[in-house]
Amino acid sequence: MAEQKRDYYEVLGVDRNADEAAIKKAYRVLAKKYHPDMNPGDAEAEKKFKEASEAYAVLSDPDKRKQYDQFGHAAFDGGAGAGGFDFSGADFSDIFSDIFGEFFGGGSRQSARNNGPMKGANLRTSVRISFEEAVFGCKKEIELTVKEPCKTCHGSGAKPGTSPETCSKCGGKGQVVFTQQSFFGTVRNVQTCPECQGTGKVIREKCQDCRGTGYIPMKKRYSAEVPAGIDNGQSIRMPGLGEPGLNGGPRGDVLVEVIVGRHPIFQRQDMNIYSTVPMSFAVAALGGEIFIDTVDGRVVYDVKPGTQTDTKVRLKGKGVPSLRSREVRGDHYVTLVVQVPDKLSSEAKDLLKQFDQASDNSLTAVQDAEKPEDDGRDSGKKKKFWNK
Ligand SMILES: [Zn+2]
Ligand SMILES: [Zn+2]
Repeated sequence: MAEQKRDYYEVLGVDRNADEAAIKKAYRVLAKKYHPDMNPGDAEAEKKFKEASEAYAVLSDPDKRKQYDQFGHAAFDGGAGAGGFDFSGADFSDIFSDIFGEFFGGGSRQSARNNGPMKGANLRTSVRISFEEAVFGCKKEIELTVKEPCKTCHGSGAKPGTSPETCSKCGGKGQVVFTQQSFFGTVRNVQTCPECQGTGKVIREKCQDCRGTGYIPMKKRYSAEVPAGIDNGQSIRMPGLGEPGLNGGPRGDVLVEVIVGRHPIFQRQDMNIYSTVPMSFAVAALGGEIFIDTVDGRVVYDVKPGTQTDTKVRLKGKGVPSLRSREVRGDHYVTLVVQVPDKLSSEAKDLLKQFDQASDNSLTAVQDAEKPEDDGRDSGKKKKFWNK
């Protein structure tokens, strides 16, 4: 390292007093700009990327930063040897997942990549649960067809006794660069190697059990933990159970979409539950206790005298728990509806007529108004009906 090393703070373009967040932010910007995947074959960008990564590795680590502030670059001389900087201990993973999340839509692999480790694809499935299971959470068995490493070839895909060879087209790099003359000058393009599909290896004699893929599809059962408060159409993520990664990368995730069944009496909107409960005319008029079904079981509700039909009642905290915290729950809104009886005993009918006479005489209001003179009440009623 003959040339003078630049100051780490200068490299990241941050103040000496910059806090952790500012350092991370500055590095993110530089990493995104100079990352080799974004600048294939550009040596200058690669140099800048390494320089920024080194600065970040030191300044993001409180101990190393302290040493650097005290001794400068001399703090790390010798420790890493002549070969270069020792990056051990620095955590880049969240930064790169951030960046690649943005660039590649969360780990999809349509883009040309080198043959470094890559996370496997996500698997999607769905599970049906009941209304109550969604409210209180549950465990559900799911069955998935998952690729497991082939036992015959130990995942290499090569026939036992043989091994995969380095791809001759890309020299094992997994990608090929080709230059193109265009309006703007020479354009260098990087493509996933068509010969080895980016793995850098070719299999001459394929393993017969897995046909050279290195994996065998297997049906597996998993228990999915469905959290209380989940709503129809939401998904739960089971990390690391998806498709195998490439080149030693981690497996993808399993995303389970939850389909919530309808309930015969409850409806749900977000965290609130709605239902309609009948009450008799007598209870509505005189007041009294009625049963209301909730997801927590039956509760007794005290109806006030003179309650009108369509009165809405709120049962606080009887709704759906928040996905974030089981303790926080929505409410249950009940609409009280007066039921009109359609089958009455003759005794009940008589009593109701008495009641009518004692209250507003509504049964006879019309005929009283139109009653012809000298006519009896009952015959008058009939006449009116038949004459019409
Ligand atoms: Zn095999
Ligand atoms: Zn190749």
